[in-house]
Amino acid sequence: MPPLKASIEERLAKYTKKTDTCWLWIGATCEGYGIIGIKGQSSPARRIYYELYKNKIPAHECLLSICKNKLCVNPDHHFLQDEKLEFYIKKNDLTNCWEWLRNTNNKNYGMICHKGKMRLAHRVFYEKYKNEIPRGMNVCHSCDNSKCCNPEHLFLGTQADNVHDMENKKRDNKSKGEKHFKAKISKKEVMEVRKKFNEGTTIREVYHLFNYSYQTIYYICINKTWKHLIILGRH
Ligand SMILES: [Zn+2]
Ligand SMILES: [Zn+2]
Repeated sequence: MPPLKASIEERLAKYTKKTDTCWLWIGATCEGYGIIGIKGQSSPARRIYYELYKNKIPAHECLLSICKNKLCVNPDHHFLQDEKLEFYIKKNDLTNCWEWLRNTNNKNYGMICHKGKMRLAHRVFYEKYKNEIPRGMNVCHSCDNSKCCNPEHLFLGTQADNVHDMENKKRDNKSKGEKHFKAKISKKEVMEVRKKFNEGTTIREVYHLFNYSYQTIYYICINKTWKHLIILGRH
């Protein structure tokens, strides 16, 4: 009996038309993707090809196609999703946001099928580039761009932070409509925020005194933003 690998290769070859770039599947398909029956089960042809020529695919890992051709089974055009997450985003040179290019939900957050589950894309990026997300915590945007996946624009917050943040953003958007989140607060208000904080008011209390997001206030208090306006005090 010939080895199993050879016979699978032969069967795959029978249904594959190789071009200079893509290898096109000409056998059966399901939802546009090539399928082949192996051990009594119909399996995605591109995954079988990938495992044959590249590596074993970890359980639940999705394959990403860089040619976006559903019928292509060329292993060189396929990568494990986690290796190529950047492929799903476009870096905006102006804002530094990493904008999600694929599907979004009704709130305009990027959605990704990740290890077998539908997830919010920015959370997947946060976990890959920064850290695990503790149970019950939200990942919030400092840039106010829900499609953004730049880990530098993401921070952990509680549900309450997020709701306050959203309310403030809505209010700000209504009254001003400026794009850059940090630009919304005036110099005078920054000085007032710092003064309150230096007098011993907690960040949360300061936050309630002003009409800005928790993060805007927080970053001013810890001198992360508006560094040229730092006044001597608690730091
Ligand atoms: Zn291809
Ligand atoms: Zn951003």
